[in-house]
Amino acid sequence: MNAPDMLTLDQPPPAFEAALKALHRLAQRDEEDVPGRLLAITAETLGVARASLWALTPGRRSIRCGAMFVQGQGVLAPETELACDAAPAYFQAIEGLLVLAAEDAQHDPRTIELAEGYLKPLGIGAILDVPICEFGEIVGVLCLEHLGPARRWSGAERLFVTSLSGILSQRHDRLRMAAAEDERKRQLLFDAATGLAGRSLFIDRLAHAVAELPAGHDLAVLALDLERLRSLAHRYGGNFADSVMAEGAARIGQMVPAARCGRIADDTFALWVSGDRAQGLATRLAGRLQRALALPMAAPDGDTLEFSTAVGIVPGARAEPDADRLLRDALTAAFSAARKGRGRVEVVWPDVRNELQSSLELERDVRRAADAREFTFRLQPIVDLVSGRAVGAEALMRWPREGRDVPPSDFVPLLEDSGLIAQVHMGLLRELFAWARETSLLERRPGFQLHVNFSPVQLQSPGFVEELRDTARAYGVEGLLVCEITENTLFSSGEDAASTLRYLAEMGIPVSLDDFGTGFASLTHLIDLPLHGLKIDRSFCLRCADDARAQAVVGGLLGLATHLGLDVVAEGVETEAQRALLVSLGATVAQGYLFDRALDLEPFAQRWLGD
Ligand code: C2E
Ligand code: CA
Ligand code: CA
Repeated sequence: MNAPDMLTLDQPPPAFEAALKALHRLAQRDEEDVPGRLLAITAETLGVARASLWALTPGRRSIRCGAMFVQGQGVLAPETELACDAAPAYFQAIEGLLVLAAEDAQHDPRTIELAEGYLKPLGIGAILDVPICEFGEIVGVLCLEHLGPARRWSGAERLFVTSLSGILSQRHDRLRMAAAEDERKRQLLFDAATGLAGRSLFIDRLAHAVAELPAGHDLAVLALDLERLRSLAHRYGGNFADSVMAEGAARIGQMVPAARCGRIADDTFALWVSGDRAQGLATRLAGRLQRALALPMAAPDGDTLEFSTAVGIVPGARAEPDADRLLRDALTAAFSAARKGRGRVEVVWPDVRNELQSSLELERDVRRAADAREFTFRLQPIVDLVSGRAVGAEALMRWPREGRDVPPSDFVPLLEDSGLIAQVHMGLLRELFAWARETSLLERRPGFQLHVNFSPVQLQSPGFVEELRDTARAYGVEGLLVCEITENTLFSSGEDAASTLRYLAEMGIPVSLDDFGTGFASLTHLIDLPLHGLKIDRSFCLRCADDARAQAVVGGLLGLATHLGLDVVAEGVETEAQRALLVSLGATVAQGYLFDRALDLEPFAQRWLGD
């Protein structure tokens, strides 16, 4: 260490201690003029002509003066910049020392590089510099410059600036942490992909807007749910949903100021409009938004996607001023619209609020129930009409909730929308397969068929067929499984479902077309697709009773199916008369309440698998 840097601890004047206290207090404050005031106090206390704060620029290539105090001139912002290359010895010294005290700066080896360009022109004779750190790393320098000839820096003075260096470094740490916290809060409040407010900020802003509504005005809240986005996001993975939502936000932004919009969930936007005719405005806007969002978007695999949007509208904030509640009602309405079909709009009138509330609770409960493994399979026998024995069974999902069974039509769509269906359903299949193995089903009943329903979401998910085959193989129950796929699934999901169906057939998993006769299936599909069987919808059984034409259709269908080698199950047989009629039309296998309802696995085994 150089001799001039040795501390000789002479007694500090009392002014130093008072100044440090003042500087410490001042450094806690955030006002813009704080650096200048710190410099002024420091210069006064030490009796130096110039005091300045310098910051290292990014990449540490140069150092720039951010604030300077000059005796007689006050605080300046000179913006002077000095390249680090121009004074390597100086920067090396600053990095390595607590304090750089150059008593004869124009000749000191550490500062001599600065002599011609800086010290001499300004008449600086001595320098007392300390580094300023942020989390232990140097980010700047505090420079005290004495004008005139050399000056001795006392131990007390050196100690003073070292303490000041600590105070300034602490201030940097604090400001940096506050900035990080601000950024964290910002990230919590805003959705990164769309730049829109997240749920809580949206609610805050909405509450504010409701509170500030001018007399005679009302406000309507809209929730927009991009249908199919969740299931497609599963399929495409990555940030597919984010990029679709970013594109969606941009399109919405053409019609509604971004400050009135939020991204509320992965696939959901919300926004509000206000005015003296808020309700009409909202319904018109709903249509325009739907059209804008329906414009094609590019999928990652090069396909073009078109999104239909379900819209929920709460038409008046005057009737329901609670922002949280407004949003929830709009979301529930959008959600209920989505369940009724594609691209629907649902408006919440006050009397339907309670009903909506309960369906929102249902959605929440479904997620919980999936975690708690509350869903089960029951088996309904598929019966040979001649022998009266079960030749198979259909697995039907049940959700026992609050003492009663929720019908699958109420919860299967919820499981599909929340992306839980595959996981829940595969879990149930494993239990079913395990049961089949334990009861030696295949050995006891060769040719027995377990019919299982699959949702379109499952059919579209990659690897589905392999997983199904591997699972069946693992339990040794290949040959037991029949996949039921509804006609509508097949034709609304397009070529995807058809190719999955072909793939299932290639893997040796038979497929039966469910609800045959209710959808768009045409006879050519029966020829084109590798089907194993079909299930004639319940509605035909009902109509056959007193409708000769229906009888002719069913009779013809049964003949055709036999001809094509398809297994046919007549569904929904409730009465002996229906059974007799079906037999007379050529049916051999049926399912319905006449034989049994869907039973838990054990009772099913006792009733239908006994010898
Ligand atoms: P589906 O596949 O057509 O199932 C037959 C439905 O008809 C069942 O209703 C069954 O209980 C009912 N049923 C059976 N026999 C009779 C009868 O004689 N008369 C009457 N009126 N009804 C009868 P459920 O269990 O309510 O299931 C409804 C639908 O939910 C099913 O229709 C199927 O599309 C779907 N579903 C059930 N389980 C699953 C599943 O595990 N996965 C998927 N994706 N969907 C399922
Ligand atoms: Ca079925
Ligand atoms: Ca059916």
